[in-house]
Amino acid sequence: MTARIASVESFIISLPRDELYLGPLGPGERVNERGYLIRHGNRTIYPSTDMSVLIKLTADDGTVGWGETYGIVAPDAVTAIIDDVLGPLLVGRDPRDPVVIQEDLYDLMRVRGFFGGFYVDAIAGIDIAIWDLFGKLVGQPVVKLLGGQRQERIPAYVSGLPGATLDNRLALASNFKTRGFDAFKYAAAVSFEGIVQEMRVLREGLGPDVRLMVDLHWKFTAQEAIQLIDQLAPFRPYFVEAPCQPEDIDGQVQVGASARVPLALGEELRTVFEYRPRMERRAMSIVQPEMGHTGISQFMQIGRMANAFHMKVIPHASIGIGIYQAASLHATAALPNAPMHEYQHSVFDRNLRYVDTSMRCEQGFFTLPQGPGLGIAPNASVWQFLRSKIKS
Ligand code: MG
Repeated sequence: MTARIASVESFIISLPRDELYLGPLGPGERVNERGYLIRHGNRTIYPSTDMSVLIKLTADDGTVGWGETYGIVAPDAVTAIIDDVLGPLLVGRDPRDPVVIQEDLYDLMRVRGFFGGFYVDAIAGIDIAIWDLFGKLVGQPVVKLLGGQRQERIPAYVSGLPGATLDNRLALASNFKTRGFDAFKYAAAVSFEGIVQEMRVLREGLGPDVRLMVDLHWKFTAQEAIQLIDQLAPFRPYFVEAPCQPEDIDGQVQVGASARVPLALGEELRTVFEYRPRMERRAMSIVQPEMGHTGISQFMQIGRMANAFHMKVIPHASIGIGIYQAASLHATAALPNAPMHEYQHSVFDRNLRYVDTSMRCEQGFFTLPQGPGLGIAPNASVWQFLRSKIKS
């Protein structure tokens, strides 16, 4: 008899950090009473802990599948959607139908305009858990269920160089270089000495052979971005990310047509429907799907569609305990057009203590976790950081 989904549970995890994500507080920045801070550099809110939402599916034969979704702010919004709406609908479903279930859940709210946001994040976490459960039930790693495994290990780029000064940030990058990493991205939101100056210092300090990238954090109008990228171009960035505001497709297209460096975007998008107009207009040459927003089913559709547009996939990596990172590596390893994956070292390494997995990022490469399903599960130590839900 085929195992069916018997129960669905969601959990909010809040892991303390030694150092804030993106580095120390800038001038005038503070952590508020809810534990959030706003980075003035990109006017965006961040948590002061590593917050995440975990999803546990249990099949009627006792097999467990784990998922995780984006919970960095207002995680209760996601767990409420799962507990009240989506979870009960999964009971009795066949976990070997992940794409069908993802489509069914997406359909429930599309005519009300819920094409993204917390609703689709909730679906993404469930989708990851279903794929994990599917893999465990059939005894196969998820990558093998996605069409096949193209890569054994995936090149990693070091993302974010948290440090109070540019000297600190160069030293951090240099340290990674001695450990076998050759690709680095810094963040405009905390580039306090100047974006061009930071690129100059990194290029001069790290040498001609490393790949350098900058995340412009949606800070600029198209014309401002074109001027800035002209100044960055002599330092040969491998890509420049997110120059214009997320809704500004025209601006992004304009930058793409003028810039002499590849453009990357997409971490804020969740479905092929959001990517498609940007692909059709060639608003970028690199797409950056974030597994915590897309889930595996949409990630694969986005990645395959990018391939049809001759675009590369260099996935985003956000804050989490590692489950959606593992899902992202499985999906990336199945794609023909994915040369690298983002490595959030300040999140990834320290949170490995909370999971059982062979997944690692060393010597410039990610290794996929071994085992059936995703090859990762939370261990007992994570539950001390369970945060109670606002309402249950
Ligand atoms: Mg980014």
